[in-house]
Amino acid sequence: MNNNLAKFASNPSLTRGRLYSEIEPKERSNFQRDRDRVIHCEAFRKLMYKTQVFISHEGDLFRTRLTHSIEVAQVARAISRRLMLNEDLTEAICLAHDLGHTPFGHAGQNALNKSLRNLDKKSCGFEHNIQSLRIVDNLEQRYLNFDGLNLCFETREGILKHCSKVAAPKLGKVAERFLKGGLPSLEAQLANIADEIAYNHHDLDDGLRSGLLNFEEVSNLSAASEHIKEIKSCFGDKEKNRRNSEIVRRMINSQIEDLIETTRQNIRETPVLTVEDVRMTSKNLVTFSYEMQKRVKELKSFLFKKLYKHPVVSSMSDLAEVVISDLFEIFLEELNNGRTKVKLRKIADLIAGMTDRSAIKIHTKYFPNKISWPQQIYFS
Ligand code: MG
Repeated sequence: MNNNLAKFASNPSLTRGRLYSEIEPKERSNFQRDRDRVIHCEAFRKLMYKTQVFISHEGDLFRTRLTHSIEVAQVARAISRRLMLNEDLTEAICLAHDLGHTPFGHAGQNALNKSLRNLDKKSCGFEHNIQSLRIVDNLEQRYLNFDGLNLCFETREGILKHCSKVAAPKLGKVAERFLKGGLPSLEAQLANIADEIAYNHHDLDDGLRSGLLNFEEVSNLSAASEHIKEIKSCFGDKEKNRRNSEIVRRMINSQIEDLIETTRQNIRETPVLTVEDVRMTSKNLVTFSYEMQKRVKELKSFLFKKLYKHPVVSSMSDLAEVVISDLFEIFLEELNNGRTKVKLRKIADLIAGMTDRSAIKIHTKYFPNKISWPQQIYFS
């Protein structure tokens, strides 16, 4: 047992196992192996060209799914170490958590979901968490003896953040908690909240850099105001980027400190001795304080209204939805030309596996004049 691990942390030598049994790695732990497999898979490399909020050609400094995933892993690892959780498992979950995203982020997912459901009323539609699991369980083809990456139960459990009751029975043990209740490991709970910490702040940062968010409005947010007061006078007008980075950095720090303190307190109040105890609790143990939850909620609804629903972002999302639904129709027609009918899920896998730029390229081939994409419209 690693001395740096708490009793309630996930222990790689006590894993619930992999879908296909394998000889234990000698020089690294099971969770290290999982992390390494994620980094080497194709879906991970494609994250580089997938949208977070801004479509990838819009500017060099905006986050992509890849940099987002790395930032989530950074935040989560830092917290994991201080809570004496398993850092390798935390990192593996974080790096894999968005593998299933379609091109163009949530707009792409919405379009794919609609296409699937319109054509098959019984379809579970498209959900990126389930798709991430599908990638690591089936779609990657890299190993001699199995499809997928054959990751440990604990990593897969963390990847499957949400799952509907309709989809859960098809996914086996890893989805049981969505039917019977219970929670995932603390590492999984942490990866989930680190995702939020990362995207709330990097979207704020990207939003300010793009000029779509107004600094004065950001100053009124309770999560930002005290930090802005502290440092506003230190920066001249020419140093906006440095000022914004400093504010965002301080906001992230406060959330991390709050999360660690509150989680330690939760663990003291709900004594958990093992990861199995954690799984049987009824409430998340990795949480913000009530006060911080209110601030996070305010920040999120601000970002929703002012950034995600900003006319510039929305208009790009609308174009993205057109691309994805057009591609679905084209592939359906082309692939169904033969005698055997191709499954709708296969088409969804094909489209979800594309990057923004490959989707745009194929769409332009079929519909050369339908969409004109704005060129780099922001300053970085
Ligand atoms: Mg994410």
